[in-house]
Amino acid sequence: MGETIFSKIIRKEIPADIVFENDKVLAFKDINPQAPVHVLIIPKIAIPSVRELNGKEHGELLGKLIDAANSIAKDMKISTGGFRLVFNCGADAGQEVYHLHMHLLGGRKLNWPPG
Ligand code: AMP
Repeated sequence: MGETIFSKIIRKEIPADIVFENDKVLAFKDINPQAPVHVLIIPKIAIPSVRELNGKEHGELLGKLIDAANSIAKDMKISTGGFRLVFNCGADAGQEVYHLHMHLLGGRKLNWPPG
């Protein structure tokens, strides 16, 4: 699987509205937001999807993605009201960008099931 647009965002070759960054994780606002808060939280290493993850190898990295989500949710004042974290994996889930990303959605009542 080749490089995606998210690699260019990580290298700051194309602009993004970055809301969080550390040595392993980057988070930026989704260009096509589905909720008042819609942030994509990604690892800086290029892993295509959840399919390529396993707890033994990636457990620490996954923890860092969750820590980032909690930190951003607090910063954006949606932590108390609640929020949703979503990984779309593969074609049936509608994954478009094959660089692992976790959607953080909030700021409105979210429907369930998501469709
Ligand atoms: P997914 O369908 O889970 O692969 O989600 C990919 C997401 O990336 C979509 O919500 C897009 O709106 C978002 N996206 C694509 N390109 C960009 C970009 N350059 N900056 C911010 N978000 C993007």
